[in-house]
Amino acid sequence: MKILTRELKISTSSRFQLIDITESVEKIVEESGVRNGLVLVFAPHATASIVLNEHESGLMEDMIQKLVEFTEPGSSKWRHNAIDDNAHAHLGSAFFGQERVLPVVDGRVVRGTWQNIFLVEMDGPRRSRSVIVTVMGE
Ligand code: ZN
Repeated sequence: MKILTRELKISTSSRFQLIDITESVEKIVEESGVRNGLVLVFAPHATASIVLNEHESGLMEDMIQKLVEFTEPGSSKWRHNAIDDNAHAHLGSAFFGQERVLPVVDGRVVRGTWQNIFLVEMDGPRRSRSVIVTVMGE
């Protein structure tokens, strides 16, 4: 079995931001030479997430709007805000998840037409966010 791990370094420019990393993930799968297996896309962060969805600018804004409504940034009801003003980002990261796993079949990442891979920044801007991509298979 082949296993290849690569780290993407991504700088973010806003507090909330969706960054499309599909192309970078697909390049790593190609580089790995794996024809059939899995690719893990993992953000080693407590205030960011990895999600799959459509790359459409209106929808991307909708997702951020809903994220803000759901996590209530700056709310005084979040205890964590007393020590670090980013409880909303921890909540978002915990509930939306920090990884996705996709099949690799015949050397290609299997995903729906409207499924791009996004890093979700919830506590930016950050100079350097990491995304770990591990490809395993044969
Ligand atoms: Zn915090």
